Amino acid sequence: MICKCKKKKKRKLANLLLRNYIISYIIMTLVVIISIMIALFIGVSIYLKDEIHLESMERLMKDDYTQIDTSSIEKINGYIVIIDKNNNVIFSKGKLPEQKTSYSAKDYISLIDSSAYNTTNSDYSYKTMYNYNKNFLLVVAIPKNSTDIDTLTHPPHPGTFVLFVLAIDTIVLGLFFIIYSRISSKNFVKPLKKLMEGVRKFSDGDLSTRIDVKSENEFGELRDAFNSMAEKLQLEQESKNKLQEMNRRLVLDISHDLKNPLSIVLGYSDLIMKNSDLSNEDQNNYLKIIYNNSSRANMLIQDLFELSKLQSTDFKLQFQYRDICEFLREIIASYIPELEEHEFIYDFIIPEEPYFLNIDEKHLNRALSNLISNSIKYNGPKTELKIEAFFLNDIFEINIKDNGIGIPKSLQTDIFHPFVRVDSSRNSKSGGSGLGLAITKDIIEKHNGVITLESDENKGCLFKITFHKK
Ligand code: ADP
Repeated sequence: MICKCKKKKKRKLANLLLRNYIISYIIMTLVVIISIMIALFIGVSIYLKDEIHLESMERLMKDDYTQIDTSSIEKINGYIVIIDKNNNVIFSKGKLPEQKTSYSAKDYISLIDSSAYNTTNSDYSYKTMYNYNKNFLLVVAIPKNSTDIDTLTHPPHPGTFVLFVLAIDTIVLGLFFIIYSRISSKNFVKPLKKLMEGVRKFSDGDLSTRIDVKSENEFGELRDAFNSMAEKLQLEQESKNKLQEMNRRLVLDISHDLKNPLSIVLGYSDLIMKNSDLSNEDQNNYLKIIYNNSSRANMLIQDLFELSKLQSTDFKLQFQYRDICEFLREIIASYIPELEEHEFIYDFIIPEEPYFLNIDEKHLNRALSNLISNSIKYNGPKTELKIEAFFLNDIFEINIKDNGIGIPKSLQTDIFHPFVRVDSSRNSKSGGSGLGLAITKDIIEKHNGVITLESDENKGCLFKITFHKK
């Protein structure tokens, strides 16, 4: 049979781990790179444009310099000076170290330079801004030792931003890894839990346990291995239970089948022993009953012995290379008087040409005789019995067919088990042991053959035996 099922692509755990690592690595790298770039961009642009400083200067600047708000400058001991286009000091506010009335051209330029390049030897940092509307220069001076000087004169260094962002990144990435590892660990923990649960249930004795894990990686392989092992063990256990049940039934059947004839034998022998005044006729009748029941018990014991001998491991058939057609003719011939006696209508079709097979004559005779004598035993006069044999290459087939009362379809396979009979009334009339077909099947199988039954009630029986030449 061609399996149309698609072979599922296996995903290895190593690949899953690698995928997780790659995703984490990419996310981590992207977060760090993007955040550093943003930090650098903001930091550098602020630093380069000196925006805080210019903005603060722009914010301070007023056309009416007397309205300039110097409170924040004065708070850190700074001051402002307004110089007109003639370099004269026209206004000042705050704590000036010295009161100048004017600036020389050189001082004026060095003041503007120091504002632009932050180069001054004095204790103050200067920032200047020219008001083109009113033509004056605003000078803001802040003490260098002021702790707040940076916030007014220097924006934070870009490195500070980067360090700040890296600290935030560390926290964010830490949180990300905790959450991500929780999510990705589910890929391992969930199937592992299911596997563990299955193993626990199985070891607690529930052999029907199967593991349902969706993964197609190593966990999937483990699931398949477990499930097929569980299936095998369950089947083994079931057949063991069946065997135990069969053995139990066998012992029950044997004891039941032996109990009846033996208690009859015991009862009648007791009767004869205790009644010495029995008539000859009665005595003979009782002895007949004792004899018949002893023979029945004996037949049962013989059949049982035969079956257990066949089923023992060291039992070997004695094979001979023989013409099976000739062998069949001999068996059939031995049954003709009996068939005539029971008024059977018979027909035999056996090939004229010889066909050689390895057979154990004694046992195969027993097997085939069982089938023929059953047909005679269980069916009345005018039953038709047909025995046909034919061969094709390595296969030799024998069909034993009657049109008698038949065997119910439901028993077609079970009838070959020991002590299985159609009903007890049939058996009590015939006196069979219920072991005949079990013995027949065993013998046929030991000849590398197969026996099957096609039958139904009132439709007769067809026993098909097929031998395969080795
Ligand atoms: P037994 O010793 O009782 O004959 P078998 O194993 O040979 O045991 O047969 C099992 C049962 O199958 C019989 O009890 C009988 O009911 C039924 N059986 C076998 N062969 C035939 C047949 N040819 N026609 C009808 N019933 C049959």
